[in-house]
Amino acid sequence: MKTTIITVACTGLLLTGTAFAGGHGTHWGYTGHEGPEFWGNLSNEYAVCKSGKNQAPINIGNLTESDLSPIAFHYSNTSPMDIVNNGHTIQVNYAPGSTITVDNHTFNLLQFHFHTPSENTVDGRSFAMESHLVHADKDGNLAVVGVLFEEGPANPFIDAVWAHMPGKAGEKKQIADVTLNATDMLPSEQSYYRFNGSLTTPPCSEGVRWMVMKNPVTVSKAQAEQFNSVIGGNNNRPVQPVNARPILE
Ligand SMILES: [Zn+2]
Repeated sequence: MKTTIITVACTGLLLTGTAFAGGHGTHWGYTGHEGPEFWGNLSNEYAVCKSGKNQAPINIGNLTESDLSPIAFHYSNTSPMDIVNNGHTIQVNYAPGSTITVDNHTFNLLQFHFHTPSENTVDGRSFAMESHLVHADKDGNLAVVGVLFEEGPANPFIDAVWAHMPGKAGEKKQIADVTLNATDMLPSEQSYYRFNGSLTTPPCSEGVRWMVMKNPVTVSKAQAEQFNSVIGGNNNRPVQPVNARPILE
């Protein structure tokens, strides 16, 4: 999985540092000839986007009852707020020291970012927005916690993030006097769906543990639209075939 991290770092989506993809990797997007249906053809490095059998996102359905242990969230505050518009999403890079533990396995929170509308769907239902909390263990294995946002009352956590959203692709800000805690983005009841998947952006690397919170939180229509307009349209990869994978609950 180490090679995954290195490749991903070049896309600028996962790790701190130079977040804009300029100069690294092959350009990709969400529409036209650089859109999701062509990702696997854009570069040899993206081949698994097309050939992979464990791709994300998925439609969550046909569930397998399982004895999933709770995710233990140990998120500390992060400050200053380190936020970047990488041209594909708005990403907040998280200060070191925040973790989740699941199945006695600990993953460090690296960053969270957003998609409108949601990437994963549940029984065919799409949500107004989805956030991805991206974690890695000490060997570079990735675990993503997905939070679904349904349209409803404005979300104060999202307000705090959007207040400093960089408007231009490649723009990065450090806001000294803002403190965030990603715990404030989680639903209060934290049961989840679990499946094996991939990054939802090129290079679409597989071997990612996915945990999607069952209970949505809310985002207002205006908040979702504000994000969508800054990013320049929808940034959701369509759902991918589930193939032989079980989806656990
Ligand atoms: Zn994502």
